[in-house]
Amino acid sequence: MRTNRGIAILGSTGSIGKSSLDVITSMNEHGENYSVTYLVTNRNIDLLYQQVKKFNPIGVVIIDEERANQFRSYLNGEKLKVYSGEAGLMDVMAGGEFDVLISSLVGFAGLRPTLAALRAGKTVALANKETMVVAGEIVNETARKHKATLLPVDSEHSAILQCFTGEDKGSIAKLILTASGGPFLCRDKSELENVTVEEALNHPNWRMGNKITIDSATLMNKGLEVIEAHYLFDLPPDKIEIVIHPQSIIHSMVEFVDGSIKAQLGMPDMKIPIQYALTYPDRVRSGYQRIDFSKVSQLTFMKPDVEKFTLINSAYEALRQGGTATAVLNAANEAAVDLFLQRKIKFTQIAELVQDALDSIPSKCSPDIEEIFEADRTARQYVYAEMEHFN
Ligand code: MG
Repeated sequence: MRTNRGIAILGSTGSIGKSSLDVITSMNEHGENYSVTYLVTNRNIDLLYQQVKKFNPIGVVIIDEERANQFRSYLNGEKLKVYSGEAGLMDVMAGGEFDVLISSLVGFAGLRPTLAALRAGKTVALANKETMVVAGEIVNETARKHKATLLPVDSEHSAILQCFTGEDKGSIAKLILTASGGPFLCRDKSELENVTVEEALNHPNWRMGNKITIDSATLMNKGLEVIEAHYLFDLPPDKIEIVIHPQSIIHSMVEFVDGSIKAQLGMPDMKIPIQYALTYPDRVRSGYQRIDFSKVSQLTFMKPDVEKFTLINSAYEALRQGGTATAVLNAANEAAVDLFLQRKIKFTQIAELVQDALDSIPSKCSPDIEEIFEADRTARQYVYAEMEHFN
């Protein structure tokens, strides 16, 4: 029997959280020895309760206090520790009994708890790209200082890590991030203005949460991934390229100085990169769907249309500016996506608001964590105030 590893899941009721629990169940069925020791959710206590029954963790965190009290009333003398609010979350991150944190809260909310787990020297399987986007330097420094390991769950970054393994960093020429192109790849630019929330949420290849699905439709997701790759793999922006690959079979590639390219392929299923982050650098058996090349039949590639999907340029611009610019980019995007999902702005106004925020809010160099929080707040306020002028 392998040594037991305790897993905490930040965002256990979200898309990545649910897949992570499936991965753990499947690995244990294949002879591995993982325990789920903590489950963290914001509000979804009904699903959390089912997860508790199945995985029997040491404790749970419910960030919403009211829901936490409601959840406590469900319990019948069970020996489950129930923590609540930000304070409860930070207690568990700093002192909880777990080896690996799967960090999969959506957006900026993931930053503080992820940093706390890194400070506690834990291994972090990072599914929350926004954490790297807004505070990449601080995250890397914290991991280094506390000898914590940071592993990507994002499929592109998992692919790059797999291509990197066994290679010398000096032999890398560039990273090539693949993008499906989202649901509007073949639409004319002029048609984008009036696309609906339902159309934007209808991703051709991946089933994901709402925020990331909208980011995939605007291609901001790829912009955020360029920034994430920069901080994870320490390469300059001009060595990180995006290529559209609508089949989502190649999850990313690395080109080496001799002109050779390594790619990682697989079905578009997040369970594969989640499992790799948990078993890295080893691999263990899984029963997930395999590629049948007679059905795939073709792999195609094209350049991204940055005239149509301008957020790609906004992301590169923020990355080159550095400082708090990436935090502004991210916060403005989170706020604008929220407004679009509430049907308060048009699809194309997401990109306009993000670029406006970037142009209007000056970037601070080498920010500390409080300055990042300040930039985040300023950018959100900016977007909500600007939105008033649209209507
Ligand atoms: Mg991705």
